[in-house]
This record gives sequence, structure tokens and C-alpha cells, in this order.
Amino acid sequence: MLRFVVLVAAVWVAFLIVRQLLRSGSARPNAPRLPDTRMVRCAHCGLHVPEDEALQHEKHYFCSEKHRLAGPR
Ligand SMILES: [Zn+2]
Repeated sequence: MLRFVVLVAAVWVAFLIVRQLLRSGSARPNAPRLPDTRMVRCAHCGLHVPEDEALQHEKHYFCSEKHRLAGPR
């Protein structure tokens, strides 16, 4: 019986800790936000990629070197 009580107490404490972690994680005012990265569209396949990861060629963006070589469609 005592082991059961200890087990319930342990589960309860674990639940409280998890809930506290979740709350502090979401309520943190200066939590890291997604950077405001502009999304650009691959001129070949239409895939949207972050501008800093895209390959630019003249006025077109491409998702990969392969598509940059293939050119706009
Ligand atoms: Zn592409």
C-alpha cells in the first residue's frame, strides 16, 4: 500500500514538473521566435525556400544548384 502511495506521489510530482516546464516554455516573453526570413519561390519547381538558403541567379531564385542549372520554367 505504501509503495502505491509513493508511486502516485512520484507520478503527481512528475506531472507538476512537466506542466511547469510547458508553462514556462510557452510564457517566456523573450522565447526564441522564428526569424523573419523571407521565403522565395524556386523559379524551376515552385518550392518555397528561405531567401538565405536559396540560390539566386539574375532575378530568379532556385531551391538547389540542380534547378539553378535547369533554369526557370
Ligand atoms: Zn526547385
